[in-house]
Amino acid sequence: MPDPVPPAVALRFEVVPVSAFKDNYVWTLRGAAGDSARYAAVVDPGEARPVLEYLSREKLELAAILATHHHADHVGGIAELVQEYRVPVYGPRHEPIATVTRPVSEGDQVSIPQLGASFSVLDIPGHTRAHIAYYGAGALFCGDTLFACGCGRLFEGTAEQMYASLQKLQALPDATRVYCGHEYTLANIGFAKAVEPQNAALKVREQRDRRLREAGSPTLPSMLGDEKATNPFLRCREPAVVESANKYLGARVSDPVRVFAAIRDWKNKF
Ligand SMILES: [Zn+2]
Repeated sequence: MPDPVPPAVALRFEVVPVSAFKDNYVWTLRGAAGDSARYAAVVDPGEARPVLEYLSREKLELAAILATHHHADHVGGIAELVQEYRVPVYGPRHEPIATVTRPVSEGDQVSIPQLGASFSVLDIPGHTRAHIAYYGAGALFCGDTLFACGCGRLFEGTAEQMYASLQKLQALPDATRVYCGHEYTLANIGFAKAVEPQNAALKVREQRDRRLREAGSPTLPSMLGDEKATNPFLRCREPAVVESANKYLGARVSDPVRVFAAIRDWKNKF
């Protein structure tokens, strides 16, 4: 008799939010069992202090640092962390981050052997010129590109680039857990309701996420399937979104990039 087929591979790590600044999350991967339970990796440590406190309290050793883009609230803590832990620092190949030792871009893999974890790198420009995401084990670390029920501002890229980046993320499976960089969800839902007042899934999401915040819990990670149903920036072909964009512009557009650009502009002023 052959051995029975094992269940779907259990995650070898769990992901814990460590709060930084006012509303940033430093996503902290920690080994779930065995030898890996001694190790952790962090994504976008904008501040070192809360990470160092967490590692020391939990008796964890840092194994790697991953950065999604060059903004200080995502990379500002790296220099202090690498003084304490000499670990590889992964980050976007085409952005100026002095502390990155392993520049990566689309097609590269990032392995963290201590955690049994491996991620594919995706290029997702728009918020910054060479923003990247890390995707693996059903988890997406996407910095300030895709937010829960929203998306990042266009600081260095064009609407075309950002729309294409969001489309790339949208192509991932519905069960993907989205770990974005900030707790902006309730404000984003407020805007999404202005764009799509009749979206029933949005109303359900608002109730759930409001309860989470009232209980002091993060609304993250979100599920990509929920984003597809409620995030207006992933819904630029939906008639209701197109209609709202047209109302905002006072003009008729249907091209999804122009719809996207219109609602991104509207959100800036909302
Ligand atoms: Zn940013």
